Amino acid sequence: MKWKETVKGLKAYEPGKPIDAVKREFGLEEITKLASNENPLGCSPKVNAFLKETDFNFAIYPDGYAQNMRTAVAEHAGVPERDLLFGNGSDEIISIISRSLLGPGTNTVMAKPTFSQYKLNAQIEGAEVREVPLNDKREHDLDAMLAQVDDNTSVVWICSPNNPTGGVTNRSAIENFLAKLPADVLVVLDEAYIEYVTDPNYPDTLPLYKQYPNLLLMRTFSKAYGLAAFRVGYAIGQEALVRKLDPVRAPFNNTVLSQVIVPIALSDQDYIEKCRAVNKAGKKQYVAFCERHGLDYYPSDTNFILFEIKADSNEVFQELMSRGYIVRSGAALGVPNYLRVTIGTEEQNAGLLAQLEDILATKGVLA
Ligand SMILES: *Cc1c(COP(=O)(O)O)cnc(C)c1O
Repeated sequence: MKWKETVKGLKAYEPGKPIDAVKREFGLEEITKLASNENPLGCSPKVNAFLKETDFNFAIYPDGYAQNMRTAVAEHAGVPERDLLFGNGSDEIISIISRSLLGPGTNTVMAKPTFSQYKLNAQIEGAEVREVPLNDKREHDLDAMLAQVDDNTSVVWICSPNNPTGGVTNRSAIENFLAKLPADVLVVLDEAYIEYVTDPNYPDTLPLYKQYPNLLLMRTFSKAYGLAAFRVGYAIGQEALVRKLDPVRAPFNNTVLSQVIVPIALSDQDYIEKCRAVNKAGKKQYVAFCERHGLDYYPSDTNFILFEIKADSNEVFQELMSRGYIVRSGAALGVPNYLRVTIGTEEQNAGLLAQLEDILATKGVLA
């Protein structure tokens, strides 16, 4: 068939292995998946209670404008409804942006390492990908990224906090960058982990999008809200920008169920507060482990942590999997000899760290 040149040789996204497949492969009964930064506590119990007692006419298409969900998100974020664009996960928003702005002859600038979908979507559209290593503070090097911007640059991606490293881009860096960037280049600020951020140097980004017509914020219900299965992400930008992107969106991209549970999840901010506290405590278990064993780690403002294991990360990943723990190998993320682990419950973290300690001791890595 007559494939687009750009699609030839592309590899599909490799998700963390599904739990059932690992159970079968290793004959295990219990698997702990700490690979995709899902919320280990699940979603608000109010959502579960609602789903048990609800009934829908499944023959009817969802509301293409997602009015009720839109109103709830607009009120929660404190933005006008027309400044919102909903996606089937923020993954779909990345695809909408790429289809709208990238193509042969254009280029796009992003950090390295960062979230893999920016690059994949750009490649599909045939755009040149310019990757800029993080600076020595392990943050996006926005000066170096700005230096990569030329007349053909259409989109710059800033992932803050960054996946897979976990740190934020600080306020003055973002403000300087926006002030210097040509107004016809779109900046996407991916804030998938915004609910976990505690760094006082992180800016309130809402006033920034009101100031800059070329800034789009991107958020999701897949991480802190524990609703990854429902596939809801959204972008916040000025109405004129959202109106340009909207025709590229699939017409019924959020399901009926997703649209009714998002307002319920948003109404339970106590739950998000609790998850944040559990996450903060869990992160300390990993930091203590790294410090005890002299392993480097990236300070994280998210629900995952990237840390050194001083061993082949694919091997350790396999070994952990055979013992019932699914994590992400740093090698797959461009950071060999590191693992990226989603912060689980206290018990899950302790269980994983005990296995990891045993594996690394056997390899002679630990002092
Ligand atoms: C998980 C993640 C997403 C995608 O989330 P969905 O809304 O589930 O598609 C986007 N960006 C980053 C940085 C992520 O980690």
